[in-house]
Amino acid sequence: MLYDAHIHLERYSQEALTQLFSDLRIDGMIAVSTHLASCRRTQALARQFPGVVYPAYGFHPEQPFPGPWQQEALFDFIQQHQQEMVAVGEVGLPYYTRQQYAEQGRILDRQPYIELLEQFILLAKTLRKPVVLHAVHEDAVIACDLLERHAWHKAHFHWYKGPAQTTQRMMQQGYFVSVTPDIFYKPATQQLVQQYPLECLMVETDGPWPFRGPFSGQMTHPNMVVSVVEKIASIKQLAITQVAAQLSSNTRRFYHLWPKDHPYL
Ligand SMILES: [Zn+2]
Repeated sequence: MLYDAHIHLERYSQEALTQLFSDLRIDGMIAVSTHLASCRRTQALARQFPGVVYPAYGFHPEQPFPGPWQQEALFDFIQQHQQEMVAVGEVGLPYYTRQQYAEQGRILDRQPYIELLEQFILLAKTLRKPVVLHAVHEDAVIACDLLERHAWHKAHFHWYKGPAQTTQRMMQQGYFVSVTPDIFYKPATQQLVQQYPLECLMVETDGPWPFRGPFSGQMTHPNMVVSVVEKIASIKQLAITQVAAQLSSNTRRFYHLWPKDHPYL
């Protein structure tokens, strides 16, 4: 049993989705959303593949800041469909956009994004749902501050990368992190896995994001988490079956994944 803990399923073409589901070898996936239209597409996929596609609804931070009406419509959608979603996400801070701005000699004001992230964390806490975070490097510190300020601990830092001090802080708070197929060619990911407790790890693809190394030129498929699990087992010097069982149970418990005969389905 294995899960892809973070994928943008609605961003695959119809043709790619047909292929993806026809050779799916894992049990399920957490399908995150990037804005309202994306939430609706994710919802449709979750309804089409119950017990396999588990939806999360949110607003990806690496895009222009949403206006008040857009924010209101999104928050309304999340409130309305809270029962069928497993988490609030993907939400976070615009690290890469800010980098791009800096390269062009411009400054992106992060403050509105921080305030929006705070609203999402408060919403997650009210709805008792986990929050899926895109908060890397120094932005992870801000996310940790917000989570601690509002005493909400159900946090999943997806594709986490950051300074050792922040990683320590996250471990102490019991936050979850997930790693991608870049574990095959990124020493920092290998170090993170060495350091982070297996009980707080998950695996993901962030598909359709493409990978290099052994996955170069391939469509990112959720099955790739199988290789990621094998790599984690070799780094941690544990049996693959033990690692697979632990990671699978981590994802199921963290996201409260419903059994396939759940009354909602
Ligand atoms: Zn993502």
